[in-house]
Amino acid sequence: MENIRFRALTTMMNRDFSNSPNEFRCTVDKFGEMTFGLEAMKKYLTEEAYKNLINSIERGDKIDRRIADQVAASLKAWAISKGATHYTHWFHPLTGNTAEKHDSFIDPVGDGKAIEKFKGNELVQQEPDASSFPSGGIRNTFEARGYTAWDPTSPAFILDGTLCIPTIFVSYTGEALDYKTPLLRALNEVDKAGTEVCKFLGFNESRVFATLGWEQEYFVVDSALYAARPDLMLTRRTVFGHASAKDQQLSDHYFGTIPTRVMEFMKEYEYEAHRLGIPVKTRHNEVAPNQYELAPVFEEVNLAIDHNQLMMHLLKRIAPRHNLIVLLHEKPFARVNGSGKHNNWSLSTGKGQNLLAPGKNEKENIRFLTFLTIVLKAVESNSDLLRAAIATASNDQRLGGHEAPPAIISAFIGTHLSQALDDLARAGTVTPELKAELDMKISKIPGILLDNTDRNRTSPFAFTGNKFEFRAVGSSQNCSTAMIALNLIMADQMKQFMSAVTDRMQKGASKEEALFALLAHYINQTVRIRFEGNCYSEEWKAEAALRGLSNHASTPEALAAYITPETINLFERNNVLSEREVRARYDIKLERYTMELQIESRVIGDLATNHIIPIAIRYQNTLIENVKGLKEVIDNKTFVNLAKNQVSYIKEISEHINEIKIFVEDMTEERKKANTIEETDGRAVAYRDLVRPYFEKIRYHVDKLEMMVDDELWPLPKYRELLFAH
Ligand code: ADP
Ligand code: MG
Repeated sequence: MENIRFRALTTMMNRDFSNSPNEFRCTVDKFGEMTFGLEAMKKYLTEEAYKNLINSIERGDKIDRRIADQVAASLKAWAISKGATHYTHWFHPLTGNTAEKHDSFIDPVGDGKAIEKFKGNELVQQEPDASSFPSGGIRNTFEARGYTAWDPTSPAFILDGTLCIPTIFVSYTGEALDYKTPLLRALNEVDKAGTEVCKFLGFNESRVFATLGWEQEYFVVDSALYAARPDLMLTRRTVFGHASAKDQQLSDHYFGTIPTRVMEFMKEYEYEAHRLGIPVKTRHNEVAPNQYELAPVFEEVNLAIDHNQLMMHLLKRIAPRHNLIVLLHEKPFARVNGSGKHNNWSLSTGKGQNLLAPGKNEKENIRFLTFLTIVLKAVESNSDLLRAAIATASNDQRLGGHEAPPAIISAFIGTHLSQALDDLARAGTVTPELKAELDMKISKIPGILLDNTDRNRTSPFAFTGNKFEFRAVGSSQNCSTAMIALNLIMADQMKQFMSAVTDRMQKGASKEEALFALLAHYINQTVRIRFEGNCYSEEWKAEAALRGLSNHASTPEALAAYITPETINLFERNNVLSEREVRARYDIKLERYTMELQIESRVIGDLATNHIIPIAIRYQNTLIENVKGLKEVIDNKTFVNLAKNQVSYIKEISEHINEIKIFVEDMTEERKKANTIEETDGRAVAYRDLVRPYFEKIRYHVDKLEMMVDDELWPLPKYRELLFAH
């Protein structure tokens, strides 16, 4: 029988990359050619439709049916001119993927004839049969009614010959069934509250919007090796695998030369991304072998998220053309770094002024310090929600693992800004001298920041000069979960800020007094979540506990923050999600956690029983035969001496086999018991506490066997092959 691992290795080695095509170079004129952006709109829309659409994008104005018909006609003409044959509403259901159901433009008109049809109503709204998407009980499957509605703020694009129209996805009763709906609601609140704060600080702004620049980390593995790893295929991570003798200890991969095959892959996905208007900018090797990163220039949050979803799709789609598989999982390989998706986030005015960037004068710097303080206060009051927002089974494996921030949410702003905030806090009880000193300091802020770009790469939420970097987001996640939470708490905090300053002024404080006193109050409260040291250290864990900060190591405990009365109230009072919607999401996330552990547990059981144990037994038999043979050819005294080691080797293998067998049986029992638990949360906790602990126990013995069994028999591609083959 042929060893499947060797077959995979042979397939990989026989590939010929010598004449791989290299025509993927996106020129400036091709940038965005597959998206219905401003240029295409101007060219294809009537002036009236164009104006309407722009107002809708910038101000959220409603588009009426007549205009929708015009836009649809233009979209159809544009899409067909680009070779599109189908259209689809493209949305983000709560599976975390994107969803699409294609319809042909071709429409029969009788007599065996057909026309190309795409009307305003098909653009604006559709009713996909949505019964199989998770809804957390909101939509019963027997009345599978949900509809998608056009989001004009994210331009339509063409993917693989299909015109994709970004949409929201809601139930007929108006409840959100996707990520985009609450995101747009939260961003809308940020806009309203942000312009109010700007106005209070003396800046008249037409709008305030949030910006996001994501950094996507991923691994690649050879597709033949991948096909020989059922665990990668079904769970996207390796459940077994002994560490490679060499992995990342020499730090020789980070920023190293990009391997040729990976480079070809990158050129192709960059080309496709640029044609879709995704402003991909940066590419480099990451810390772990075969780990890479790509990052675009930041954009408005909603668009940036659509682009990230699209980018993840492109990565998965294009990699196989280079015989590669992309792994977006947060921790595909034990003992080397996992993958995250840093979310760089800031607020901007309609004129493009970054509200988290130090300014040119005192007034702008007061605005900067005010927004900065409000962010910190929002994080301080809602750190548990931020933690909940990034909680998944796979991110649990990465957080706190020395390549990612711990599960404790803290913020880093650097020594100079800390100093500036502490000065500001002291100025809350203003004396004229203090005020004069402060004025001088505030006007110096930009210089200080430019000269002192201190960075903290261990903090989950770090200020990096003109934006915050939320570093705890997982690589496979839809950024929306993090961005809904962050923008929601920011909007809410800005509203609270406005009502508190107004209150102080009504009680007789001057505007300046009210502002400074409130900032001082906030700054003092944020001391407990501000941490400048090493967040990966044990000392920080101890100190965070003393400070009363939460450290939710696992998803079920982290998710509980979603359904506290405070969180539900927060979502409701900002019109982002109703209680029913919040609870539905909580259920979906917990259920998903359980299902992921269930699948992993099954894969571990199957692989251990069908792949590992039979091979170990086969090798053991070879050893036994060998010992028997020795006995026949050697005199007894010498044999006893010689066979000692071999017999103990045989025993050791037997013990590992035995342990694996017992643990798999016990795990299966625990799984069966857990499956009978009715309540979603109880089931998740049972999986976490009673099933998951077996994963490591079983793995320990399998990985030991990997080191003992003849390399030629071992069935699963090894870490050295998965991580270094490219
Ligand atoms: P790194 O953290 O790896 O050093 P960079 O500093 O180059 O990365 O930037 C990371 C991301 O931050 C990029 O996508 C960049 O566009 C984004 N970014 C820069 N300014 C802003 C901003 N004002 N709002 C949101 N993202 C931003
Ligand atoms: Mg970064």
